Amino acid sequence: MWAGANLAFKLCPMLTQGAIEAFEQYAAPEHQQTFLPKMVSGEWTGTMNLTEPQAGSDLAQIRTRAVPDGKHYRLFGQKIFITYGEHDFTSNIVHMVLARIDGAPPGVRGISLFIVPKFLVNPDGSLGERNDVKCASIEHKLGIHASPTCVMMYGEQQGAIGYIVGEPNRGLEYMFVMMNAARLSVGMEGYALAERAFQQAADWARTRVQGKPPATAARIGRSASMGTGTSPAPIIGHPDVKRMLLTMKSYTEAMRATALYAAFQLDVGAQHADESVRTAAQARGDLLIPIVKGFSTEMGVEIASIGIQVHGGMGYIEETGAAQTLRDVRITTIYEGTTGIQSNDLIGRKVGRDRGAAMFALLDDMTRELEALPATAAASATTAALTGVADLRASTESLLQSLGSAPDRGDGGLGSYLRLCGIVIGGWLLAKSAAIAAERIAGQTTDSEFFSAKLRSAHFYAEQIMPMAGALARIVQSGAASVVETDAAHI
Ligand SMILES: Cc1cc2nc3c(=O)[nH]c(=O)nc-3n(C[C@H](O)[C@H](O)[C@H](O)COP(=O)(O)OP(=O)(O)OC[C@H]3O[C@@H](n4cnc5c(N)ncnc54)[C@H](O)[C@@H]3O)c2cc1C
Repeated sequence: MWAGANLAFKLCPMLTQGAIEAFEQYAAPEHQQTFLPKMVSGEWTGTMNLTEPQAGSDLAQIRTRAVPDGKHYRLFGQKIFITYGEHDFTSNIVHMVLARIDGAPPGVRGISLFIVPKFLVNPDGSLGERNDVKCASIEHKLGIHASPTCVMMYGEQQGAIGYIVGEPNRGLEYMFVMMNAARLSVGMEGYALAERAFQQAADWARTRVQGKPPATAARIGRSASMGTGTSPAPIIGHPDVKRMLLTMKSYTEAMRATALYAAFQLDVGAQHADESVRTAAQARGDLLIPIVKGFSTEMGVEIASIGIQVHGGMGYIEETGAAQTLRDVRITTIYEGTTGIQSNDLIGRKVGRDRGAAMFALLDDMTRELEALPATAAASATTAALTGVADLRASTESLLQSLGSAPDRGDGGLGSYLRLCGIVIGGWLLAKSAAIAAERIAGQTTDSEFFSAKLRSAHFYAEQIMPMAGALARIVQSGAASVVETDAAHI
């Protein structure tokens, strides 16, 4: 809801939450006592400082230096694109900064994590001197204009005082705790803005009168008047507008279901009493994170763009707010690891490393659950999902085979594999929800409008979205050569 209401504002608590998780797990008890209560209460905010001009996707290139100085370190360097790096909403800002201790090994094995407060904290908890960290400038961006994206300078004078988190050289590992949570959260931003775009577009389409939609499409809900097929009526009656809205709605429902399923797995992974259940759930949650992040954000951008199309020219004009949704959601495929990086993570770490074990376990569960669904009004969604699961299984097998024999060849189909996963997992969850909806309708629920709408969007997804899984499977299984074999000089 926060991301849908105002993405720029939502980023501030999101990053604070990520920093809190890293503190809870790895920071020394005295630092937890000093910083955590104020961060949890929201009195102070947190940031994540990874990116440098030469170190974006490739964090091995980080150059910010940390020099030991008694009990703490002094940091020197520049960070760019730091979200909420500076502001005056709160009295202090706690920066989590990746830096290299002098003499540390090169590459990712020599990166440590530091706590660098904007204001140093006195032993009694009051704020002391201003630390040697400052915001050099604020970027001008395509969207999320209310979020200050800062260039941060550390140690322009005596060095910014920083406290190490955990052990030296394990910073990236700790940062991944924040990044995993942040990637799931950014995935949610994708569908939150898709939901916003859908609500804006649906409201617009219910009131904008243009043309004469066919009489059969006339039941439009809310208080709008009915079309007759002969007089002008709201555009929501036009089949093409309905198609656009159903595309937006069904994808958003699929993405939300997938993200909630991933979050559920992570909760089970953290809390279940049985260790083997915890391990399996954690592996499944880890597998799903790049899919939630990559797929929901890519689709968020596409859906926000469809939202503008539903508005017609007024979507391109700022007053409707549809354009802002597209500008805001555009960043979500880039920060917290671009879609390319999510694809690498999905294939290299999550599927490649365990030779598909977590993916095949998921596919087995999906098949078993789909086959057990009752033959109800939702049967079309079940059939389409089963076909998609078979496509994803064959593609996973093919990808693993090519990764084994020619690692490069996997790369050409990566984006398609991630998208295939997103479409099929979403289709499986929508088929399950459609079966529940059909059952409730048969049981004469009082909420039949809601369940009928669920059934319709699952039916649409089965008919109009799931067939794309077949095309994506073909790309994954045989489309890599045109990418891998093309010399960069020929582009
Ligand atoms: C508004 C905004 C807010 C941000 N907030 C923060 C923040 O709070 N903290 C922070 O530390 N950073 C932040 N960032 C930085 C952000 O995380 C990086 O921009 C992002 O990780 C990409 O790095 P880059 O911009 O250097 O792009 P590059 O790494 O140069 O990537 C350019 C293109 O190359 C592709 N590419 C690069 N390497 C590979 C690879 N190995 N395999 C396949 N494709 C690859 C990418 O996918 C991309 O398409 C923010 C950025 C923006 C714009």
